[in-house]
Amino acid sequence: MPNDRRTGNVKCHKCRHILLEDMNGTYTSVCSKSCASNNNKNFVYLVEDNLPAWIKQKVEEEQWTKGKLHCESCKSKLGSFDFVSGRKCDCGDSVLPPVYLVTSQVDIPISLPNLYK
Ligand SMILES: [Zn+2]
Ligand SMILES: [Zn+2]
Repeated sequence: MPNDRRTGNVKCHKCRHILLEDMNGTYTSVCSKSCASNNNKNFVYLVEDNLPAWIKQKVEEEQWTKGKLHCESCKSKLGSFDFVSGRKCDCGDSVLPPVYLVTSQVDIPISLPNLYK
């Protein structure tokens, strides 16, 4: 299977366990480009409809409420999900997606489009 269009894997920062095999269509940006909130660069938000299997499983275990995401391999904390409270971006413009990874806990391919500028 050719995988030319892959942007690369997202890995656990600590143990390099692969968390997401392809960021394309998996991450989502949070707010408008002009938004200066730290939410934009400190977290990687995932598209709800396209969650990887291991995350979906966690979410289902918690019955779509809230919980934490840990690396399946080294158990370090990687992020959270919260389908309950509908947190807003610091600027107040948009509701944040419920599932996110903490940017500093994961290795993100540098080919991602301008997400962290
Ligand atoms: Zn790990
Ligand atoms: Zn914002």
